[in-house]
Amino acid sequence: MEYNRILLKLSGESLMGDKQYGIDEVRLNQYAEQIHEVAQMGIQIAIVIGGGNIFRGLSGTSKGFDRVKGDQMGMLATVINSIALSSALTNVGQRNRLYTAIRMEPVGELYSKWKAIESMEKGEVAIISGGTGNPFFTTDTASALRGIEIEADAMLKGTRVDGVYTADPEKDPNATKFQTISFDEVYKRGLKVMDLTATTMCKENNLPIVVFNMDIYGNLKRLMQGENIGTVVK
Ligand code: UDP
Repeated sequence: MEYNRILLKLSGESLMGDKQYGIDEVRLNQYAEQIHEVAQMGIQIAIVIGGGNIFRGLSGTSKGFDRVKGDQMGMLATVINSIALSSALTNVGQRNRLYTAIRMEPVGELYSKWKAIESMEKGEVAIISGGTGNPFFTTDTASALRGIEIEADAMLKGTRVDGVYTADPEKDPNATKFQTISFDEVYKRGLKVMDLTATTMCKENNLPIVVFNMDIYGNLKRLMQGENIGTVVK
């Protein structure tokens, strides 16, 4: 097996499916089934979900929200998404445990590296919500942080594109995809794989990033079986 322990990052927006806002239950269930399949292969999985489908702190400032309060709303949005995923995982028969960066029992347990690892070693999927618990960060950075903390073999960024391209493939028909690319090349080309804070954390702590299309059913499993379906940044 290519990976024993992974950190899977899902954006909040991906949970919307074809909707304009909130959570699409069909998409959510597809994710839950895919995650369950991979967990059954014995792979240890931790998950960080964004909150962009509900609220982003920065966009709140234009509506008059204080940035820190807006970011707190954003972090709570990631908890809402995580509760939804926890419920969907339970529905497909996948044991899981919800952790929160900020204390809010009984919604979830306060996160610690050791509790999350213990969960994964017992066969539970660890959903790590609430971002980093601090404003001015993103869930990309939270996934980098948690991935490094739990000693994941890679951070998998599930998106709606199948990897990292020379240009935005949704805008430029001549864009070509990288199989692998170095962190230095990502900086040099100004590619937006993740935000710079997250990218730098992964680079400095040797955590490879795998960008792949999570919306194609079965891709997560294919990736785990070693199929070359995304882009590896290392
Ligand atoms: N957020 C934060 N600190 C963190 C992670 C997230 O303040 O450590 C807030 C921030 O306002 C962000 C929102 O939560 O806009 C939702 O996260 P993000 O934008 O990363 O979600 P995604 O784009 O992945 O859906």
